[in-house]
Amino acid sequence: SVNPETPTAISPETVQKWDNRHFFHPWDTVGGEDADRMIAVEGEGIYLIDPDGRRFIDGPGGMWNVQIGYGRTEMAEAIGSQAMKLAYHSPWAFASEPSALLARRLAAMAPGDLKTVFFATGGSSAVDTALRFAQFYNNLRGLPEKKRFLAREKGYHGSTYLAASVTAKERDGNLLDTEKRLVHFLPNINPYLRPEGMSVEDWCDAKVADLEAAISVYGADTIAAYISEPIMASGGVIVPPPDYHRRTREICRENDILYISDEVVTAFGRLGHWFASEEVFGIVPDIITCAKGLTSGYLPLGATLISDRLMAEICDAGGEDAVFKNGYTYSGHPVCCAAALKNIEIIEREGLLEHVRELTPHFQARLNELRRHPIVGDTRGMGLVGCVEGHPAPGMSERERLAIDQEFGNRVDAKCEAMGLIVRPLINMCVFSPPLIITRPQIDRMFDILDKAIGQVEAEMM
Ligand code: PLP
Repeated sequence: SVNPETPTAISPETVQKWDNRHFFHPWDTVGGEDADRMIAVEGEGIYLIDPDGRRFIDGPGGMWNVQIGYGRTEMAEAIGSQAMKLAYHSPWAFASEPSALLARRLAAMAPGDLKTVFFATGGSSAVDTALRFAQFYNNLRGLPEKKRFLAREKGYHGSTYLAASVTAKERDGNLLDTEKRLVHFLPNINPYLRPEGMSVEDWCDAKVADLEAAISVYGADTIAAYISEPIMASGGVIVPPPDYHRRTREICRENDILYISDEVVTAFGRLGHWFASEEVFGIVPDIITCAKGLTSGYLPLGATLISDRLMAEICDAGGEDAVFKNGYTYSGHPVCCAAALKNIEIIEREGLLEHVRELTPHFQARLNELRRHPIVGDTRGMGLVGCVEGHPAPGMSERERLAIDQEFGNRVDAKCEAMGLIVRPLINMCVFSPPLIITRPQIDRMFDILDKAIGQVEAEMM
């Protein structure tokens, strides 16, 4: 055990054995009984600690969510004291202080008139709620045909049926069914993919035209909403061309299509602001979904923030008594809401939004330096999020490349791990979204390790 005062009851070997035998992990293989997952025992600051007491910088910051870092006593106390006071109440029948306070805080932080907050259990259920609300809204406006969703290739919105249906990370392959008739995907917007010689401005025009073309093919009267991540996180940290979001937002407004900004990754400081939609990209969406950094991963919680205009339109259409029959046993869970309030208090008190804005140029510069390696095809990012994309086999088709690309990711991962850095590769990409408390020397340490690992993998593979 790392901490002699808290001996673990079972050995790491047994943990691994039972985990492999019984825990069907997210994105697990069916026969995955010999997986070699690292066992995380403790967390402290930006570090994860394994059973041998080895410390690893948590490059992905959990799953882009551990904003305030691990091991915060005051967070544990806030959670403990709310659990003692009132662990649970039905959100159907009762109100309570933590959820009311948090809803008010979120409404105050959100852009525009997004003052109505629906609490979900995480990102997927927040997205599901947004999509279902868009359909509910059109039913009440007497527009039952206006139900389709526009989403984007490489977008990731979650794992519930509807959220997965608007998700298109096609390279992973997908053996699960989704609701295909309901969704149209716009082609990849990654500026890195633009034809040689094309300017980013022309690429942006083409990507905006994709949205216009989809609307003219299907008709705005069949489309309920467009869903978009400010930065496509899981799809490989795809940063849109400048002005793309503002222009697509405008087109949605002109066509009476709701604009859903999925800020599950980008909210709560990742880009240096509470929300990125308005402060970074200059848009006020109709609906924002958030989760992850809302509690810094200490407890699960998501939220769907809805524009008051939509609520007013429903009332104007005579729908004030209509019941939105969507909800979860744990909507507005008092302990999760208390954790979110404490998280927001810490981010504010420690000036973490300003800290991210200050560190961003250095973080992004260190990331971009990795392009000096011929094996690195691209680097991209914004705020404290970044991605390195390796191209160990340029010239091959995407299909032929998959195994080699995976090999690149796995090798970089293994070498980084040996040097004390977790990278969690997505095929040939390593993404970074460290805890927001990271310091400049820690950023240097992280990129020094990565630089060395990529250099070694390059020597082996090229
Ligand atoms: N939306 C985005 C943009 C995400 O990145 C994720 C998760 O990675 C989700 C939704 C789903 O969130 P959760 O895994 O909490 O259900």
